[in-house]
Amino acid sequence: MFYCGVRMGQDLQEIIDDIAREMNAAPDRGQVADYIPELGRVDADQFGLFVALADGSTYSAGDADIPFSIQSVSKVFTLALALGKLGHELWSRVGREPSGQPFNSMFLLERENGVPRNPFINSGALVVTDAILEGHKPDAVLGELLRFIREVAEDGDIHIDKSVAASETAHGDRNMALAHFMAAHGNLRNPPALTCGTYFHQCAVEMTCRQLAMAGRFLVAGPGSPSLISPKSVRRINALMLTCGHYDGSGDFAYRVGLPGKSGVGGGILVIVPGRASIAVWSPGLNEQGNSQLGTLAVERLAAKTGWSIFGGI
Ligand code: GLU
Repeated sequence: MFYCGVRMGQDLQEIIDDIAREMNAAPDRGQVADYIPELGRVDADQFGLFVALADGSTYSAGDADIPFSIQSVSKVFTLALALGKLGHELWSRVGREPSGQPFNSMFLLERENGVPRNPFINSGALVVTDAILEGHKPDAVLGELLRFIREVAEDGDIHIDKSVAASETAHGDRNMALAHFMAAHGNLRNPPALTCGTYFHQCAVEMTCRQLAMAGRFLVAGPGSPSLISPKSVRRINALMLTCGHYDGSGDFAYRVGLPGKSGVGGGILVIVPGRASIAVWSPGLNEQGNSQLGTLAVERLAAKTGWSIFGGI
């Protein structure tokens, strides 16, 4: 059986069905994030997986049509918008190095004068949101974000869950602290509350695995994938996903999976197989680094069974 040029001993649908079965039976599912109370109410016993190949074929297993909060996976879409608007200028305000720190860490920010290590930790994502917000109203920026996501996903039914945004706003002291600290260093151009409010809403976009995998196709750069951003930006975003997409678990994800990925505390992960596929996996329980426990295990299994890796065959 050949899938986008790769020979597999087993049918791809069978592979992901097997993975979903194994994950559904897994005893250790990690801990659901509860620092955003609305996320703490999500049932941990859920698992979804969706694969969209560059040739247009799609494969779905488990709870792939149940919507979840994409949280930090949204940072991939805002980075794409920011690179389109600001280009290289963005990198004077945010770095491109792994942080080796938790997603919400303040530690390096203090040592490095308010310039975050990368666009995928919270401080870096706040700078990215601040950059696309400059000169615009939050509603216009969030509208543009939704239009972009809906267009790449080819699905108009993608929305922001206002109750999740409100829940994070009510408990957002830590992100507000990061924003104020960067404002003190002149690295925030809008009032911290405005930037944080926009960021909390972008994180509260709700998508299914099917919608997320379809949206992720703009990063695949395969023959049939949508080309909404330049090939150069595609390559750069994938590089950042590989090195920084899983916070202080990024090295472990690269070692185990070997593919660029971006996780969110809602339990979703978007994984790209360059030239071949966009994968979305979701299971709400998180590991110690705040990445989906079973989601990571599932894509590790998928990469091993398909041989998909940017580092060569397994
Ligand atoms: N909205 C979350 C926060 O800022 C996103 C974190 C994540 O998904 O990793 O804390």
